[in-house]
Amino acid sequence: MDASTGQPGLRRADDLARLARRVVALGIAVCAPFMAAIWVIDSAQDPWIRWGFPPLGAALLAFAWILIRRPRWAVRAAITALVLLEAWWLLLATARIAESADAADAWLALLPTPLLDVAVCLVVGFLFQSTRTAVLHGAAYSGAVTVVLAAALGRLPGGEEYVWLAVRYGVYLGVFLVLLLALSRAKEHVASAMADAARADATASRMRDMAYLDELTGLANRRRLREELGHQAGLADPAAPVCVVFFDLDHFKQVNDTHGHEFGDQVLRAVGEIAARTVREGDLVARIGGEEFVLVAPATTHDEAVRLAERLRAALPRELGTTLGVRLTASFGVTELGRDEPADAVLRRVDELMYLAKAEGRDRVRAGA
Ligand code: GH3
Ligand code: MG
Ligand code: MG
Repeated sequence: MDASTGQPGLRRADDLARLARRVVALGIAVCAPFMAAIWVIDSAQDPWIRWGFPPLGAALLAFAWILIRRPRWAVRAAITALVLLEAWWLLLATARIAESADAADAWLALLPTPLLDVAVCLVVGFLFQSTRTAVLHGAAYSGAVTVVLAAALGRLPGGEEYVWLAVRYGVYLGVFLVLLLALSRAKEHVASAMADAARADATASRMRDMAYLDELTGLANRRRLREELGHQAGLADPAAPVCVVFFDLDHFKQVNDTHGHEFGDQVLRAVGEIAARTVREGDLVARIGGEEFVLVAPATTHDEAVRLAERLRAALPRELGTTLGVRLTASFGVTELGRDEPADAVLRRVDELMYLAKAEGRDRVRAGA
């Protein structure tokens, strides 16, 4: 999920737009040396290339810079660049036809690179515009190209034959346009499928959170704890024992009665934070009832677990006193998880140990096998 927008689908759409920008920028970067080579070879004979290519090349490089560095301007810059390129190409093609001695010569002047330019313009249009806009734009451009060239060729001696050729190429452009349309539709379907998948991912992860997390504290809940205990009981290895610590806040009801339920909730959240700070990474902290918490500490000996419980027993009144101004203690039970021991059995055992600690006067740790 995107942390900034909170909407995973939007990030996928952004990824796609970024990819389109990179493809076009890369295409321009690849074209630049070819344009430079054509300029070196042909500029002496062709004034259009001599005077047209340098500003065109500079504009294309500026366009590539915008795509990478100023993505916010990308769509507007792409459409402006397209219209300028199209106008430049039409002007160039008609000027060449007008300068040609006959229709055959004019036709040769049209092919092959200028027609390739039309294709490039159509592809760029499809990358940056919505399908509908791109089709309208592409159809208008291909139509204008066909009509203008056919008219220019028709005025030359022997031009009729080439008029039909130009119309045929217009039809090819139309077919190309239809293929692009299909491709572009597919692109939009892929984008929307990706957005749907991302939304489904986010929903699934939210449902998982709801199923496994305690809403008040964000700690693991009883279901998650039972799964973890089942998992750890299957792994339990005498060389790396797993210990379980159960603690219950002492006289917590008085906190609610004195300061109100909301303050009580705030205390429970703070207790969760203190517990999470006190355990090692890889330990599980769960809240399984009103003011009852359980820690699962893998690869922890019985003595280490008692020391962990004692550390937390000392930290709770100290930190709650500093942050919330309440003096609150807890009673602890500590035990070791047996190999393949059911979750309910170990929870019952550690709960009984905790009750012994309560019976002995609270604010203490009671450990047992
Ligand atoms: P003991 O030392 O014997 O554990 O006494 P206690 O008052 O902590 O225990 P008791 O079981 O009598 O009361 C638990 C209290 O916890 C009762 C209830 O008001 C409070 N409680 C349970 N769940 C929540 C909760 O989600 N939020 C708040 N604020 N209080 C809760
Ligand atoms: Mg209690
Ligand atoms: Mg209780």
